Formats: sequence, structure tokens, C-alpha cells
Amino acid sequence: MKREIEKASVLIEALPYIRRFAGSIVVVKYGGSAMVDEKIKKSVIQDIAMMKMIGMRPVVVHGGGNSITALMERLGKKSEFLDGLRITDVETAQIAEMVLSGTISKELVQNLQGQGIQAVGINGKDGDTLIAKKKLHNGKDLGYVGEVVRVNTALLDSLMTSDFVPVVAPVGTDFSGNTYNINADYAASAIAGALHAQKLVFLTDVEGILRDKEDPSSILRQLTLHEAERYIEDGTICGGMIPKTQCCMDGIRQGVQSVHILDGRTPHSLLLEIFTNEGVGTMMTR
Ligand code: ADP
Ligand code: MG
Repeated sequence: MKREIEKASVLIEALPYIRRFAGSIVVVKYGGSAMVDEKIKKSVIQDIAMMKMIGMRPVVVHGGGNSITALMERLGKKSEFLDGLRITDVETAQIAEMVLSGTISKELVQNLQGQGIQAVGINGKDGDTLIAKKKLHNGKDLGYVGEVVRVNTALLDSLMTSDFVPVVAPVGTDFSGNTYNINADYAASAIAGALHAQKLVFLTDVEGILRDKEDPSSILRQLTLHEAERYIEDGTICGGMIPKTQCCMDGIRQGVQSVHILDGRTPHSLLLEIFTNEGVGTMMTR
């Protein structure tokens, strides 16, 4: 009986949060690196299903870097990166789209459906959701690496209105018929901004932003825009954490109320962030 009472009190504790977040849009970027382990995948899917069931409106934007690299390898192509961005020729853009929209998106949809949630996988081409252009990185041409120039929210809005969880693959298009591979972090922050999301959460494969990349205990719980800029400049933040941090900053600038980087490997880190007072991961503030 004691156990049952404890269970009830856990639910009651979540009540104010459930009330506060009812109807709110939460964009979850689910990172490639944290998508490998089956148990972890299940816990992330359960968290998203729970969010939906209690009345939040989650939007999932997923990466898939590891799977793209793996298929490239099988096809005899080498993957090259610059500051966490994949150098993308036409063929690489095709492979990325196949993996993201074909395999990963549909698997996420199937798993959400399996938890009793209605989900639809789209990529940025559907409904012209992600209009992109070539992204120059410090003046360098990385090929079909896109940056989002506009988000059309019509399709996302209508999916959410009809009770579907949108699952978005970060593939963009322009008006000349090009296909762009967009870093999923950028796609997520652009979508969060356009939807006026209350929360933007990046699930990744580290505890959060670390002062010392090799030391999990050096996690920075809270970070201001100014500090984030400094850590990118002095190299504390590097590789794939650079776009992620920039996207947190963009999210804040676009008016998203709270932006978080969480460890997707910790079971139910999403629920812990949303329904408890103790923060997990790194939160960015103004
Ligand atoms: P995702 O697939 O979630 O986008 P990325 O590999 O692109 O993941 O980015 C996360 C990686 O960034 C971490 O695994 C880590 O190796 C790297 N990284 C670089 N600097 C930092 C830092 N200061 N704190 C934490 N991680 C960092
Ligand atoms: Mg990344």
C-alpha cells in the first residue's frame, strides 16, 4: 500500500507542471548520437508519448548523422565534416534524404504509433515547410548544406490541430528544386521560433555543455548568451556542440521561453526536465 501511495504522490507532484504546460508546443531535437541504443530509444519515445497524452503539443525534429555515415560507408563514400557540419555533394544529399526521411523518420513514427500516439513523418519539402538556401560556413562552400530561410508552419499547424505529432526530417528545399541537408539542430531552432514554442529541447549524447569535454562533472547547469559566445570563441565548445549552442542562442533570441540541452542517454531525461524542479542538463537563458 505504501508503494501505491508513493506512486500517487509522484503523479500529484507533476500536476502543476501538467497544468502549466497544457497546450504548449515543445520542440524536441532528437540527436543522431543518442538514437543508437534500443532501450534509450524506447524511453525517449515513451516520454514524447506521455507529453502528448497529457495535452502538450510535441514536435520532433530528428538527426541521423551516424546512420548517414554508415550508409555512405556501405556505398563506398567517405564522410567529411567541418565544425560539425557535413560536407555534402549531390549524392550525399540524396543519401541523407533517404536515411532521414526513409528509415529514421518512419521508425520514429512507427514507435510513437506503438505507444498509442498518432504521428506523421514529413521532411522540409512537404508543404514547403523548410525553405532553405546554401549555407556558407565562414565563407566556405560545403555543398548542399542548407540553412533555413523560412519555415512555413501551415502543415505543422494542421497536423497538430488534428492531434498528430509531427516528426520532421531536416531536409530542405528551394525554389529551383535543390535538396539541402540541414543540420537538425538548426532545423529544430527555426521550427521552434516559427511555432512560438514554449520549449526547445536538444537531446544529445553528453550530459550537457561541459566546461571540460572529458569531465561530465564539469557540466554548466545554466549559461547566458554572452557566456555561450565566449565558450565557442575560446574553443571550450567545439564540434557538433557548436551548432547546438548557436541554436540554443537563436531559440532564445526568437523568443522561445526555455532552451535545454539534455543527455538523451539518461532514461526519461525529457520527463525529468519538464516535470521536476531539479534541472537536468544545461539550460540557456538571456
Ligand atoms: P547530436 O547528434 O546530438 O547533434 P553531436 O555529436 O553533433 O551530437 O554534438 C554533441 C557532441 O559535441 C558531444 O558528443 C561532444 O563530443 C561534443 N562537444 C564539443 N564540445 C563540447 C562541450 N563543451 N561540452 C559537451 N560536448 C561537447
Ligand atoms: Mg549534431
